[in-house]
Amino acid sequence: MFGNIFKKEETVEETPNQWIKCPKCTSLMYYKEVEAKQNVCPKCNHHFRISAEKRIVCIVDEDSFVEYDHTLAPVDPLKFTDKKSYKKRIEEAKAKTGKTSSVMSGACTIGGHEIEIVVFDFSFMGGSLGSVEGEKIVRSITRAIEKECGFIIVSASGGARMQESTYSLLQMSKTSAALNRLHHKGLPFISILTDPTMGGVSASFAMLGDIIMAEPGALIGFAGQRVIKQTVGVDLPEGFQRSEFLLEHGLIDMIVDRREMRETLTGLFKLFKKDKKVVIEEVPEVVSEKSLEEAPEEAPEVVQEELKA
Ligand SMILES: [Zn+2]
Repeated sequence: MFGNIFKKEETVEETPNQWIKCPKCTSLMYYKEVEAKQNVCPKCNHHFRISAEKRIVCIVDEDSFVEYDHTLAPVDPLKFTDKKSYKKRIEEAKAKTGKTSSVMSGACTIGGHEIEIVVFDFSFMGGSLGSVEGEKIVRSITRAIEKECGFIIVSASGGARMQESTYSLLQMSKTSAALNRLHHKGLPFISILTDPTMGGVSASFAMLGDIIMAEPGALIGFAGQRVIKQTVGVDLPEGFQRSEFLLEHGLIDMIVDRREMRETLTGLFKLFKKDKKVVIEEVPEVVSEKSLEEAPEEAPEVVQEELKA
């Protein structure tokens, strides 16, 4: 069903103006020029937000993506209404994006490696995590376990979908539990954080990656800056919720330019692909040969030498 994302066709949301202004360097550029660079600003490297379809084209092997579970649609168990009813909000989001969920999930290959992937689309209700999104993630993980392949989530989300209340919060534990099953099978999960990754998404699966990578300049956090400042009453350091700050402070593992994402993922999955059995057999041998027999004899000598000196 989904081979056609690789062909250049106008999508519903992208009827762009001819010109686009970069929010970071304020340069005015021809839209097609930016689009040709995978929606990265050629002047300042700002990574524009992109749709799930474009994201998939960026990182998976050409024509390899097969979408699953695209018919799943949210229900409104709480009959929730704020300024508008939840039902109405879903209808509007569907009309705007042509989707029924803020994630696309499916199977693909990346650099020839078989991968299950889930990609968030911020344009559908702020990429919020509801019961449909949680279910799609869990089904995708289950397929990865069945196929014994790697798993990726590309997050772009404001957090849990408040209109689903506890049903949306439950998705945090549901997805985390499924990732735990994946972990126990020794299968890799790479979490890719894009602008923005906030709230319940960052507080669950997004931070559970074996490797957590982020795009440059992405906003990543739990609560927003204003809320934190009001709560703790302290001025916060500049850019404290951006990828670069988080890398410096050890919360994420790497920052990867969108244009190098596929290559980086290919390299990582190649490392993970190394026969797991070999690794497990090698470890005990190394321990018994060296550290247990030779080490105790060497250690006192070193100490004596130091004392003489
Ligand atoms: Zn720019």
